[in-house]
Amino acid sequence: MTDEKTNNTCPICNASVNQINRLYLLGLIDSTTYRCSGCGVYFRQPLPDEKAVAQYYTSRYFRHPDEIEQQMAKVQGSWIIHTLKQCAGVNLNNLHYVEFGAGRGWLVSFMQKQNMASAIGYEPDNTSVQWGRNQFQIDLREGFLENALQVEDFSHGRQVIGIAHVLEHLHNPLDVLETIKARYQRPYLFLEVPDAVWEGPIMELETSPQSSMGQHFWSFTEQSLNILLNRSGFSVISCQKGGIPHFWNNHLDTLKIWKTISAYHQGWQYNQISIKKEIIASLNIAGKCLSAGIRMRLRRLQKKNYNRIDLPIIRILAKAVQ
Ligand SMILES: [Zn+2]
Repeated sequence: MTDEKTNNTCPICNASVNQINRLYLLGLIDSTTYRCSGCGVYFRQPLPDEKAVAQYYTSRYFRHPDEIEQQMAKVQGSWIIHTLKQCAGVNLNNLHYVEFGAGRGWLVSFMQKQNMASAIGYEPDNTSVQWGRNQFQIDLREGFLENALQVEDFSHGRQVIGIAHVLEHLHNPLDVLETIKARYQRPYLFLEVPDAVWEGPIMELETSPQSSMGQHFWSFTEQSLNILLNRSGFSVISCQKGGIPHFWNNHLDTLKIWKTISAYHQGWQYNQISIKKEIIASLNIAGKCLSAGIRMRLRRLQKKNYNRIDLPIIRILAKAVQ
C-alpha cells in the first residue's frame, strides 16, 4: 500500500498526502504513516491518547553512552551560543535557558557554564532527572511544558527555549510552539530534529513498535519546519544541517532484506507451494543478504561505522515575531 493517495491533508501545510505503511505505534495503537506531497513531512495518524503516551515516557530511561551525549551537547550548545552572538547579537547575561525533554541534562549543564542568567531543564523521566541533578548540580525538574507554565515567572528576562529531539515525539508540535510563543517573553527557540530527507526512507520501511523510529509521530524536512515555525509565530535566524547522510546505510540494508523476506513469507502463505519458485526466492534472498553483508563489511573496513553524533539532523535557532 505504498504511495496510495488519501483524502487526508498535511497538518503542517495542507497539501495532499500519501499513505506509506501501517504500524502498531508505541505498541499502543494501529496507526498509518503518511508523507506530505508538499512540505515532505512524514507523520502518523491516529496517535495514542496523550495520557497513554505520557505514561509511556515516564518510564523510558533512555541514554546514549556518556561521551556521546557530552559531545552532542557540546556541538548543540556551541552552535546556540555562536548563533545568538553572531546572528542575533544578544548579551547572554540577560538570557535564561529553558529546555523541554532535557534527558539527563547534558545541554542544560553546558548552557549553565556559558554565563547565562539561568539554566533549567524539564524531563518526564524521573531516573534521568535524578542522575542529572547528582552528576551536574543543575536545575533539572520532572515534567514538561505544562509543569513549567505552572511555576515559572515570566515577568522578567528573556528565554532561550531548547527542544532537541523531542518535536518528533509530540502529539501537536504546532500547539506546543504556539503556547511557548504566547507564554514566554519574546523567546528565542532552539530546535533539533532528525532530517526527514535521510530518516524518511527508514520511516518507510521500519514498522517495528520496539524500534526508536517506531516512537516518532513526525519526521520533519527543513521546509516543513519553516512552515511550522511561521505558523506558530517564529522566524528562523539560522538553520544548519549536520551529521553524515550515510549514517543510515547499514540499517537501511537490513530493513530491505527484512522486507524481502516478509514479502516472500506472505506469498508463501497465500500461494501454492512450487519447488522451483521456492528455490528462486531462496537464492534471491541469499544473494541480497550476501551483497548487503559485503557492503556492511566494506563500510566497517573503511571505518564508516557511525555513532549517534553522526545522525543527519536539522538544527534551527528562531525568534518570536513581535
Ligand atoms: Zn505538508
